[in-house]
Amino acid sequence: MQILFKNGTIITAEGACRADLLVVNDKIAQIGADILPTAATQVVDCTDRWLLPGGVDVHTHFDLPVSGTHSSDDFFSGGRAAAFGGTTTHIDFAIQSKGGTLRAAHDTWRAKAEGRAVIDYGLHMTITDLNDAVAAEIPHMRELGITSLKLLMAYKGSVMVDDATLFRVMQIAAANDMLVMTHCENGDAIAQLQADFIAQGKTAPRYHALSRPAVLEAEATTRALALAEVAGCRLYVVHITCEGAVEALRKARTRGMPAMGETCIQYLHLTAEKLDQPDFEGAKYVCSPPLRTAHDVAVLRTALRDGSLQALSTDHCPFWFAGGENGRLAGKELGRQAFTKIPNGVPSVEERLKLSADLLEASRWVAVNCTQPARIFGLYPRKGALLVGADADIVVWNPSKQGVISAKTHHMQVDYSVFEGMTYRGAPERVYLRGKLIVHDDQWLGTAGQGVYLQRESGVWL
Ligand SMILES: [Zn+2]
Repeated sequence: MQILFKNGTIITAEGACRADLLVVNDKIAQIGADILPTAATQVVDCTDRWLLPGGVDVHTHFDLPVSGTHSSDDFFSGGRAAAFGGTTTHIDFAIQSKGGTLRAAHDTWRAKAEGRAVIDYGLHMTITDLNDAVAAEIPHMRELGITSLKLLMAYKGSVMVDDATLFRVMQIAAANDMLVMTHCENGDAIAQLQADFIAQGKTAPRYHALSRPAVLEAEATTRALALAEVAGCRLYVVHITCEGAVEALRKARTRGMPAMGETCIQYLHLTAEKLDQPDFEGAKYVCSPPLRTAHDVAVLRTALRDGSLQALSTDHCPFWFAGGENGRLAGKELGRQAFTKIPNGVPSVEERLKLSADLLEASRWVAVNCTQPARIFGLYPRKGALLVGADADIVVWNPSKQGVISAKTHHMQVDYSVFEGMTYRGAPERVYLRGKLIVHDDQWLGTAGQGVYLQRESGVWL
């Protein structure tokens, strides 16, 4: 099977060029000027179109058990929504259960994806309960294709770990060329603030944000950076939302520390005022860390542009607004009586490329959405770049196609959009996964189970 993409503009992390691109079976076989088709070659005219590598979203939560329910997208519906938005690879989080092994967490998450995944996927390992046996298991994660370890410094009494645990994992990671990822918020102080608000009868969604001030994210980010520096490991700070955390990361990187950070698409557009909406609507915007200020939004946009942040992800973790009925899983309504019971997370996996296209120059946009995430997490050059020999994950992008984001038309399995009514300019027209057309305009052409598990190598420091 041969597909020739003619007359398109290829966007890479370095720049843009006019060239033809030939796919043979599932790989990119040739890139150059005026490639000639054979009789059997399917030709796709890409005049006035961009060709991008399929998006790589390194932070998703499909089918995640939280607060007595699950996130509403599974590996089928979430992957399909991602593909409609131009993302063809994601990395989800396998989460160790208390007292459980890492191997069991890996097996559980692979089973969730088995027969359902529609885009290619890898796994990070989230460590929640460290003991000697679990510590001894960590190096063996490499054999399972897992080279990144996530730890949460928040969610006290649930998945939070203490500094001793964090530091010990960092040492093991350093010895095994693995990457440590941290959710940076001070969980002890947050737990106290939450208890205070609830005791005062302050139960509305807005207190979710007020119980998680930015300075507690900046503090935890600084602490994680310090521990990583002493342990000598590479560090990747997930979902950075505020100026203080950006500044801490920037300072560490300036000193030559192998630290990196991402932000998520919702933090580039939305602010904490959203949580003030009446009739519990603010719950739709409850995620952690919370939405911040317009100033933070501006800081994050600049940080992505100037290289202070290296990746843009989604932390996609949707919950129904009106859940628990009509066959729906329970959702945000669980927290009507207390903000602490609202499942944390927003739906965003479909909108990342569309809603960042206008914010960044084209090559930078591809760098933070595709190429750099693939490099940081050991998927490059197979994923994240249009290169000869790479998987033929290709997005034909129409830079002038305009539209409006709405829950009525999105493909995520959830009854609202945090981006409702926002306009975009530029959208995918065709999305290929390993040479197979899976999205064509509004049409879904993929099949459940076509997504494969990706064994990852060690990534690099960017
Ligand atoms: Zn997350």
